[in-house]
Formats: sequence, C-alpha cells, structure tokens
Amino acid sequence: MKPWPLSHSALNTFETCPRQFFHKYITKDMGPEGEPHPNLELGRRMHLIFEECINTRTLVGALPSEHAYIMSVLISLDGKAEVKLAVDAHMNPVDYNDPNAIFRGILDYIAIDHDTGVGVIIDYKFGARTPSDAQIMSQTALARAAFPDVSTWAPSYYMAQKRKVHRAGDVSGISSADVTLMSMLELKPAIMALRHKIERDADDVSRWSTEQSGLCRGYCLALECPFNQPKPKR
Ligand code: SF4
Repeated sequence: MKPWPLSHSALNTFETCPRQFFHKYITKDMGPEGEPHPNLELGRRMHLIFEECINTRTLVGALPSEHAYIMSVLISLDGKAEVKLAVDAHMNPVDYNDPNAIFRGILDYIAIDHDTGVGVIIDYKFGARTPSDAQIMSQTALARAAFPDVSTWAPSYYMAQKRKVHRAGDVSGISSADVTLMSMLELKPAIMALRHKIERDADDVSRWSTEQSGLCRGYCLALECPFNQPKPKR
C-alpha cells in the first residue's frame, strides 16, 4: 500500500491510539459520527465566517462583535485564509495534491511582510483548552518550506472563547532556523516511521496496538475494536 500524505491530525491520532489510526485512516470503517459536539459545530461555522472576512477584507454581518477586533487586525495585515501547503520527503514545498507530498496541512490564516521578513500564522481554536504548540509548529514548518525568504515567524492560536492570542515560542518571534529545529527535525522522523509502518502493516490489524483510555467508553468511533464500549448511562 502506498502511503498518502500525513497531516498533524493523523500523526496525533496515531500517537493517541495506533488502532484508532488503523480504523480511521486505513480501513476507514469508523462508525457514524452522529450529532457533532456543539463546540465542533460552532468551530466549523466560525471558521467559514472568519474565512469570508479575510477573503472579502470586510467584517461580514455574521461575524460576532467580540471577534471584530482580531478580524480587523488580520484584515489589515493583508493575509490569506485556508492556505493549503505540503512538503515532499526532502521537505521541499510541493502542491497540496502532489503524489510526492508526505505531509500537508491547511493554515487558517497566514500573512507575510516581505519587507521585514516576518510571517504571521494563526490557527483558530474554539474549545476552552489551549492546545500544545505541536500543531501550530507543524504548520509553521510547512510555511517555512513554502516561504524561505521569511526570517522570523510568529505562530499563534486565537483562543476564540477567551478572545486571546496565544503565541507559540517567545514573544519576539521564532527564527526560521529555530522552526527547523523545533519541528522538522522531530516531525520528519515521525512522518517517515509512520509511512513505513503503513506500507508494512496495512493488511494486519494485529500490528496496530490498542491504547485504552477514557476515549474507549463511547468517544471512539472505531466500533470494530474489541475495547470499544458504549457511553456509560448517567
Ligand atoms: S476503542 Fe480505545 S483502544 Fe480501541 S481504537 Fe478506540 S481508543 Fe483505541
């Protein structure tokens, strides 16, 4: 089996539970999703509204007023929304759908000031918990490959519930060299190891270990897994 380009979310699923990765990405036999969690649905809707603001360079009517300030700032930086980036095995930038792509991601927002060499990356988050820097750093690594003239990156999460920008790295920004150190050096071995495993073990479910956790009790859609259980009744 020829492995397809991986994403941060796929790597994350593998790290959480290899068996879940097997069902989600290889056999693709996950159970029905049912009603989306209210936070997920809100996130999906707000992503579309934020995208429209950036694309039209206006604060569209559907934008809740509490996000007007951040959207005004992002519009003024003249950035782009939903930018698809990918790299090949040499970490060179390739088209998102290129057959040689090994890793890819979609950036919620990116703005580059070519005069100062500063790149701003924002990932919108609608849950309460601030995620680890891993996701935003993997996106920054993709951007670093696509825009080699940028010398300093400012990757951040916009935590919509708190209306706060959470900066990854130190406040003065991250040099392009540090992006390579902080993400690609860790990311590439993980990507290559998982691709190798997919090629070797895609036909053998027993080679994908199970990591039992609270997810197994009604929060995992890998219904074929022997540890999958219904949600406990309240
Ligand atoms: S039910 Fe639990 S062990 Fe099985 S795939 Fe899901 S998370 Fe992994």
